[in-house]
Amino acid sequence: MVLIYPPVAKISEPPPGVAILAGALKEHNIPCKVIDANLDGMLWLSKKSLNSLNLDGISWNRRAIKNLDNNIAALKNIRVYKNIDQYRQKVIDLNRAITIAPNSRFTVTLSDYTDSNLTPLKSQDLLISASKYQENPFYQFFETDLSPKIDAHSSDYIGISVCYLSQALIAFALAGWIRDRFSNKKIIMGGGLITSWLSMPTWSEPFKGLIDLMVKGKGEERLIELLAPSNFEADNKIEIQRHKPDFDFCQWTNYISPGSILPFRTATGCYWRRCRFCPERAEGTLYRAESSSRLLSNLNYLVDRYNVDYIHFLDDAISPGFLNSFATQNIFSKNWYGFVRFNQELKSQDFCKALYRSGCRLLKLGLESGDQSVLDKMEKGTDLDFASQILKNLKDAGIGTYVYLLFGTAFEDEAAANKTLDYVTTHSDYISFLNLAIFNLPRFSEDAANLETELFSEGDLSLYLSFKHPKGWDRKKVRLFLDRQFKRAPAISKILKRDPPFFTSNHAMFVV
Ligand code: SF4
Repeated sequence: MVLIYPPVAKISEPPPGVAILAGALKEHNIPCKVIDANLDGMLWLSKKSLNSLNLDGISWNRRAIKNLDNNIAALKNIRVYKNIDQYRQKVIDLNRAITIAPNSRFTVTLSDYTDSNLTPLKSQDLLISASKYQENPFYQFFETDLSPKIDAHSSDYIGISVCYLSQALIAFALAGWIRDRFSNKKIIMGGGLITSWLSMPTWSEPFKGLIDLMVKGKGEERLIELLAPSNFEADNKIEIQRHKPDFDFCQWTNYISPGSILPFRTATGCYWRRCRFCPERAEGTLYRAESSSRLLSNLNYLVDRYNVDYIHFLDDAISPGFLNSFATQNIFSKNWYGFVRFNQELKSQDFCKALYRSGCRLLKLGLESGDQSVLDKMEKGTDLDFASQILKNLKDAGIGTYVYLLFGTAFEDEAAANKTLDYVTTHSDYISFLNLAIFNLPRFSEDAANLETELFSEGDLSLYLSFKHPKGWDRKKVRLFLDRQFKRAPAISKILKRDPPFFTSNHAMFVV
C-alpha cells in the first residue's frame, strides 16, 4: 500500500497518522510505502521559485529566493531561534519563497492553502478540484515527484491521509490525478478531517465514484481487514492498537526545525471530554489509552531507533497518570512539549520541577476565559485561582506556557471578556505565548439545538455554525474588542509579538 500525506500542513515534523498506519501494516506483513508529500511538495514549491522568471522586480522577493537555501539551513540551527528577530525574518522569507511560486488564484503559505475559486467546505468544489487537477499548483509535483514513487510500488491501493482543511483541496486534486494516471489503483481516504466529515449526521457519501473507501477513525483496523483479512479477527483490534509507529520513511533532517521532533500520541480522544464548546464532545470521540508502561516502552524504542532530539506529545490533553510517570521516573533525556489541562498535580511546585527535569520545556494549556462563571458554564473544570498558581509554578520551574483563549462563546459577554483581559494582564509575566480564537459553534453539538443558528457558508461539509449571540456579543463585536482593546494592552501585545510566525506552537519550545 502507498500512503500519502498531502500538502499543506506545517513542515516542522513528520506526520504521525501515516506512521501509525505503516507500523500496523508492516507488522501484518503488508508492504507499505509512506510518502510525506507535504514536506516534499512544500520544498519543491519553494525551489520552484528559484526558477521563477517573474520576480516582479521586488527586492524582498529576490532576497527571499536568493537566500532560500541559507534560510532553510538557518532554521535548522537552534541558535537562530534564540534571536527572535533573526528567526522571524528567516521564517517570513521562507514563506515568501513559497508564496511567490503559484499564480494569483492560489495562496500557499507555510501553514495554509487557499484557492479563490474553490472552498474545501463544499463537496462540489472538492470534486471540481479533483476533475481539474491540472490547475492545482502542485500538479507538476505530482507528475515529477510522486509519479515515479507510486510507479515503483506495485500495490493496488493508495491511501491519502487528510488531517486539516488546508490539505483538502490538494488531496482531492491528488485523488483526481491518481484516478486518471493510475486508473487500476483503488483510492482510500482517511485522517482527522475525513473522520469529522464521516461523523456528520448529514453525511451523504458525495465522493462515491472518486474515492473507493473513506475511513472513519483508526484506519489501521480497517486497512488490515481489507488488505489481509486472514490476519484480522475482531479480537485482534486490541493488538492493532499496540503497534509501534513506523517512521522509516522520514528524512528527519529535511524538516524545518532545529532538530528532529518525534510526534507521539499517548491516547486518542480526550479523557475530560466535557467542555461544551469542544468538537471532541460533539463528535463523541471515545477516549482510548494504553497502559503507561507500554506507552513508555514504545516511546523509548522510537527515541532510540530514530535518535530524535525532541518529542511532541499530540494528545488533546496528556493524562495526569502519564504526566505522573514523567515526573516520577527518569524516562528519557529529550526535551518535550504537549497539551495539558490545569491539573491538580501542577499545583505542586515540586511536581512542575520534576516535569522540567523530565525534559518538559513547554506546556500548552486551554485557559479559554478569565471569568470563572464562563468557565463553569462551559464545563471546563478549571479553577482560576488554581490556574494562577499553576502558571506561576511552571514559570518558576522553567517551563514555558502557551495559553489558549476562546472568545465569543454563548456564555460570555463583554464584561466577561474584559475579565479575561484583566486576568491575562495580571498573569502576563507567567505566560510565554497566547493563542486567541473566536468561537465557532460545532454544527452538531447539543448547544446548537438551543441557539438561533445559520451555516457560515453554503458548504455542506462545514463543521461549524454561526449563531445569534444570546447576549448580543456577536463575532463583529468580539473582533473589534480583540483588535482595539485586547491585543493593544501593552502586556498582552508583548506576549503576542513573541509568537513564532506560521509555525506558532510547533516552534514555540525553541524560542521560549
Ligand atoms: S480539555 Fe480540551 S480536548 Fe478535552 S474536552 Fe476540553 S477542550 Fe476538548
